[in-house]
Order: sequence, then structure tokens, then C-alpha cells
Amino acid sequence: MLHKEFIVDGYERTIHIEHEESGLDAFIVIHNTKLGPAIGGIRCHKYSNPEAQLEDTLRLSEGMTLKTAAAGLNHGGGKATINALKIKDRSLAYQILGQAVEELKGSYICAGDVGTTVEDLFKVKDATKYVAGISLDSSLPTALSTHTSIKTLLKRDGLQIKDQTFTVQGLGKVGKNLVDMLDGKIEAYDPFVTDLDGVTHIEESNLLQGEFYVPCALGGVLNGFSLASMKSKYVCGSANNLFDSRDDILTAHKMNIKYVPDFITNCGGVIAVALDFKNKNYLPSLTTKLSKRINTILDISKDENIPAQHAAERIANDRLK
Ligand code: NAD
Repeated sequence: MLHKEFIVDGYERTIHIEHEESGLDAFIVIHNTKLGPAIGGIRCHKYSNPEAQLEDTLRLSEGMTLKTAAAGLNHGGGKATINALKIKDRSLAYQILGQAVEELKGSYICAGDVGTTVEDLFKVKDATKYVAGISLDSSLPTALSTHTSIKTLLKRDGLQIKDQTFTVQGLGKVGKNLVDMLDGKIEAYDPFVTDLDGVTHIEESNLLQGEFYVPCALGGVLNGFSLASMKSKYVCGSANNLFDSRDDILTAHKMNIKYVPDFITNCGGVIAVALDFKNKNYLPSLTTKLSKRINTILDISKDENIPAQHAAERIANDRLK
């Protein structure tokens, strides 16, 4: 195993692991452990080059620091990525990654993420005890925290879920669970899911034309282009990195779009994984406690006339001081 560690400003540890026989080409990044051991999933994705992979790992690990801090967890942010294009022996690749996690002696706790299966995590577990949420489908708690966020957002305006029409983008693991939980009317667009019961399937071009937009697919959906033609008044979904750029945060604020920041909305997965690792009940953290946290953020946003995203980031960064 080739194990190269190097320094990236603002990050605690950045490690590149390569293993010839298995084809493992992975990065582990620990962004911040001020509040406790870093936690974050293993993403397995087809990266076109190592620079793009490293960039993704850095960005995602930093996002985990914000998410865990804002969620009140005693964990920091970390992430691992594997380049799916290089894998020759999948089982061995995940085992070797597990060895690298074990060598970090608990400063990074890994879990599942896009592209990594439960079977993969069992291979990681063969080599390390620092793996969480193996038997937990994180999309269910993520859908629950998204449901709580939607409910809280509407309640502030005296509205209820049952009276709304939601326009959902993405009917994958989280989207489907969320649709099951929402008792309002559902319209949705997913290029690969076109016949879900109880859902009115719409064209992609109509996604931003309804009152309440629920992005559960891709990041960067609020950008200069989409914001220019957007009719939705409310936005709240599980997708990471809702805004394409910092400027888009300001534009949405000026447009008076009401939303819950993504790393608050989709905190359910990491909260469940972290508390399950400690054998604690995570449900209150995804319902009553989360609703209280969202109200604090939205109160700051309103009182100080700042974007909700900035209010949430400030709360997270205050814990990290
Ligand atoms: P998933 O891969 O199961 O589902 C994504 C769905 O989006 C797929 O059905 C896909 O067909 C659809 N899709 C792709 N491109 C689309 C497009 N242009 N328009 C509409 N639909 C499109 O993923 P998931 O686990 O359901 O996660 C959804 C989002 O929530 C992602 O952004 C993910 O990062 C985020 N998230 C997930 C979790 C979790 O625990 N699963 C936790 C936090 C955040």
C-alpha cells in the first residue's frame, strides 16, 4: 500500500492511498477534530483525475464539519473517496481502505455514502472498528430531518404540510422515503422514476414553477440561471450544496425565498450514524430538537436580515471557535 500524507491549508490531515493489487485509489481527509473524532462517509465515484477527486474530498469533509457542528454533535468533519474507475478487486479495495482508517486510531470514523454499499462497509469492518451506521439506512433519518425542516418552515407562516403541493426533484432513496412521509400533494421529476404511486410526474422544466420546491437529487440547483426564472417561494430538500455559489445565497435572500440551509435539513443521516455508533436514540434529534434549531437560525436570519445560510454557518463556526 502506498500511503502519502501531505499538507493542505485549513485541513488537519490529507492522505492519499494507492494499492496496486486491488486498484484502490483513495483519499482520506480529516478537516477538523476540534469537537471530537471526524465522521463522514466513503464516496465511491468515477473521478476523471486525482485533482478532481481531492477537490471533492476536501469540499465534502469541510461540509461535514459544518454539518456536525451545527447539529450539536461532538464530532468533526472527515470524508473518504474512492475512484471507482480504478478498482480491480472491490472487496480487497475496501479492506485496504479499512486498514488505512484503522491506522488513524479513531480520529476518523467512516460510514456509507453515494456509491458505497453495505457489503462494502462489511469489508471495511474486517479491518477496522471505526466504521459506523453499517446496518442503518441513512436515507430514512435523512428523509425524517427533511420532513421536520419542511414542517418547521411552513409552521412559521401558519401553514401545514397537508394543505401544500410539493414539487420534488429526485425520487431516489431519500426522495421516495420523504414522499411517503409528506401527506400533501406531490408532483415530481426524476428521469429514472416515472411511475411512482401517488405522485404526479411532471417535466423537468416545471420543477421551479410550484409553490414549494423540494430538491432531493443534485447540488447547485439554486444558481444564476434557475433563480432568474424561479417561481417557488419555499425551498427545502435533502440535496447537498443547494447554492451553486456564494452570490446565489445573496440573490435568494433578496428574492425573499424561504428555505432551510441544506446542511441543517439533511443532518438526519449523520446524526443517526453518530448516535447509533454510541447506541443512543436519535429520533428526538431529528424532530423536536431539530425544529428548535431551525427556528433559532430562521429567527437570526429575520432579525438581522441576513441569509439563513449565513446564520446557520455562524452557529456552526461559533461552536468551532
Ligand atoms: P439517490 O442516488 O438514491 O437518488 C437520487 C435520485 O435523483 C435518483 O433517483 C436519480 O435518478 C435522481 N436524479 C438524478 N439526476 C436528476 C435530475 N437532474 N433531476 C431529477 N432527478 C434526478 O440519492 P439519495 O441518497 O436519495 O440522496 C439524494 C440527495 O440527498 C443527494 O444530494 C445526497 O447527497 C443528499 N443526501 C443524502 C443522504 C442520505 O443519507 N442518503 C444524506 C445527506 C444528504
